[in-house]
Amino acid sequence: MTEPITHLIHHPYQPPNTFVAPQTGVYKASTVIFPNVAAMRTREWKDKSGYTYGLHGTPTTFILEERIAALEGGLQCVLVPSGLAAIANVDFALLATGDELLIPDNAYGPGKVLAAGELAQFGISHRYYDSMDAADLAAKITHKTKLVWLEAPGSVTMEFPDLLALVTVCKQRGVLCAIDNTWGAGLAFNAFDLDGKGAGVDISIQALTKYPSGGGDVLMGSVVTRDAALGLKIKLTHMRTGVGVAANDAELVLRNLPSIALRYQAHDAAARQLAAWLHKRPEVETVLHPALPGSPGHQHWKQLCAQQNIAGAAINNVASEMVTHGNAAGLFSIVFKERYTSAQVDAFCDALKLFKLGYSWGGHLSLVVPYDIPSMRDATVAHWPYRGTLVRFNIGLEDVRDLQADMEQALGKLV
Ligand SMILES: *Cc1c(COP(=O)(O)O)cnc(C)c1O
Repeated sequence: MTEPITHLIHHPYQPPNTFVAPQTGVYKASTVIFPNVAAMRTREWKDKSGYTYGLHGTPTTFILEERIAALEGGLQCVLVPSGLAAIANVDFALLATGDELLIPDNAYGPGKVLAAGELAQFGISHRYYDSMDAADLAAKITHKTKLVWLEAPGSVTMEFPDLLALVTVCKQRGVLCAIDNTWGAGLAFNAFDLDGKGAGVDISIQALTKYPSGGGDVLMGSVVTRDAALGLKIKLTHMRTGVGVAANDAELVLRNLPSIALRYQAHDAAARQLAAWLHKRPEVETVLHPALPGSPGHQHWKQLCAQQNIAGAAINNVASEMVTHGNAAGLFSIVFKERYTSAQVDAFCDALKLFKLGYSWGGHLSLVVPYDIPSMRDATVAHWPYRGTLVRFNIGLEDVRDLQADMEQALGKLV
């Protein structure tokens, strides 16, 4: 080894291995080097006792997996390239031809689309249940049912289900249940221990794209379990479908993770303040926010999420009709009075200056999206009580007074 060009690849210099810094290193690899053939043949990746291939894990992804598992109160975690990929990983790991999947009617939409697309193509059927009615779930479970999805609160319409009741139905009937825990983020409640006695879900997925990343610049998902055999099943499907994450993306999430509780509480406090203010506006028919009495499932939210605050502080500056303790994320929806046409509501959204039009949520930037709810619901469309248009807000980290002023000027454009 004398030629300079070979030195560019095989230079013998090794830096001292005593480097310690607050942040984890970004270990990038497809190839992982083994010291000898024996190690290559025997090294094991499934239990994280060694490294074999980039897809199976690097120090960077192992560290993020352990931290997300700890955040959620779980024991095993796999990382996938998006929140939707986390849903797909669970479906693909647990369902086979002839099985049936039950999904809450108000679940994250693309998860429903996956069931209607690839899962149906594989001979896996699905039905929608009303997440606010445990009896409806119980009635829909049959010998074919192999997986039940849960989500709290419901996507866009924000109904907060009685999670313990739904989990209890699944346990009684011996069906695995998985929660989309993106809203709770492992902070609002412990999905693996809903009653303080260990009753909880089997699997919790999150779109790390939202609060764990916090920047609107990373797509990533996680699948967390507490049972080793179930965790392995998820991991084997993860490996066979090749859905690893990039080291730079994992590092971005690791960098923002330590501030997640503070950010979550800041988003929450601002959202409650704005939700309470909108609740009193004459243009607004209703505000859908779990911490607002009268919002669907408020009592369930209160029972599960209002016991304590993440950082021990109360939510300040919130009108008295809103519960001022507990944890509730920075997301809520309003339904406009029926007298406003959907074109007028579109104009309201267009008139907002600080709130940007865009999907996803959980970042520092406030966002707004108008939705047509009847076209998004199957099993519960008949119960949707409103004729007005719904608008969903993600409350970012801007000063809440500026956000309120922005909403006020845009509401002024309605008349
Ligand atoms: C955003 C979101 C997802 C999907 O996450 P992506 O990373 O965008 O694929 C899944 N579930 C919920 C509740 C979400 O809000």
